[in-house]
Amino acid sequence: MDHFNLRDGALHCEDVPLAAIAEAVGTPVYVYSAATMRRHAQVFRGAVGGDGPLIAFAVKANPNAAVLATLAAEGLGADVVSIGEYRRAMAAGILPERIVFSGVGKTASEMAYALQRGLCQFNLESVVEAEMMSKVATSLGIDAPVAFRINPDVVAGSHAKISTGAADTKFGVPIDDALAAYAAARALPGLAIQGIAVHIGSQLTDLGPLEHAFGKVGALIGGLRAAGHDIRVADLGGGLGVPYDRDMPLPPSPGEYGEMVKRITADWNVRLIFEPGRLIVANAGVLLSEVVRVKPGVGDPFVVVDAAMNDLMRPSLYDAFHAIDPVVPTGEQMVANVVGPVCETGDTFATGRKMGAVAAGDLVVFRTAGAYAATMASTYNSRPLTPEVMVSGDRWAVIRERQNISKLIEADKLPPWLDGSAAAQ
Ligand SMILES: *Cc1c(COP(=O)(O)O)cnc(C)c1O
Repeated sequence: MDHFNLRDGALHCEDVPLAAIAEAVGTPVYVYSAATMRRHAQVFRGAVGGDGPLIAFAVKANPNAAVLATLAAEGLGADVVSIGEYRRAMAAGILPERIVFSGVGKTASEMAYALQRGLCQFNLESVVEAEMMSKVATSLGIDAPVAFRINPDVVAGSHAKISTGAADTKFGVPIDDALAAYAAARALPGLAIQGIAVHIGSQLTDLGPLEHAFGKVGALIGGLRAAGHDIRVADLGGGLGVPYDRDMPLPPSPGEYGEMVKRITADWNVRLIFEPGRLIVANAGVLLSEVVRVKPGVGDPFVVVDAAMNDLMRPSLYDAFHAIDPVVPTGEQMVANVVGPVCETGDTFATGRKMGAVAAGDLVVFRTAGAYAATMASTYNSRPLTPEVMVSGDRWAVIRERQNISKLIEADKLPPWLDGSAAAQ
């Protein structure tokens, strides 16, 4: 469910007409609904059993400070994968004890920074990482709360670039090596082993692989306890899919996910952690764009919009589908290729798409653009970074300004041998 609906024939975000935002801020612009984010946080929390578990929002899905602060007010913590994300979470008021530090490449300085300021746990991905953590922790005289992320060797069934749970990916400790990894970590000073973690991929539309992975984790918890490890925390990761394409079956609901988790973990006797990202914010955002022109094609016409792959990378990166709708639908339909202005054939949002008819100057939205969207934007083709707006009821605010093109240019520095006078020679 989201809060982007037609009112009086024009698409609104909550109580604000999208056309008013386009008029004031220009396009392209990301627009987020705070009510949708809050609702998703509440629904997820209800589905996984209230206040007991830690729900650590995967910051990489949408790291904007206003988004993090909105979710922090709902009691969510943060799953971070870099010191930048850790600092963003702290700056947004998320308590350190609600921060989980994931990622396969944590550096010693990242470990030290988070250790000194506090966190719930580091999810370690290898014994060599545990050895580095041990050195950092002992040098600071602080015990590091740690879990191992296990690679359960389960094929998640989503796009290859966002599947992380098969044995040949870079993620986690292979499940068959887990007992040896915990034994090795126990022998290292400065590590307080407290848990186990798993995350098999993103945009999962079937509970089967998750259930399979969680079952393996449950069995491993038994084995770890038998070997004398005190496992008090189980981090089940994120990954639940959201509907992008109205013609596809709905993914499992948070309620169905919660029921499955309850059934599988009933006798685990641990505190659960969840790391949802996409589920919380994807449907809470749209990318609002203007049609520059409609260019005739050999087949279907090209709807050239002012947003491009640098603003929304998912279609070119993952062949991802985003529904594209006119802000003021006429009731007419068209079949079109929707493309951006960037000089790459991959700058294509949709091919042969049946959609509401649009003409030059019309506004369109790319729906379900609240996750893995603005955060992946780049300045490719010297296009300034896309601004972001948050709506709450009838209020709205710019939560990131459009990047200034002069600043973008000034950020480059000429080497001394190319300074103005020398270049003039
Ligand atoms: C990306 C990621 C998540 C979030 O995944 P979603 O599919 O957005 O829920 C959670 N945990 C880890 C370790 C991740 O890398």
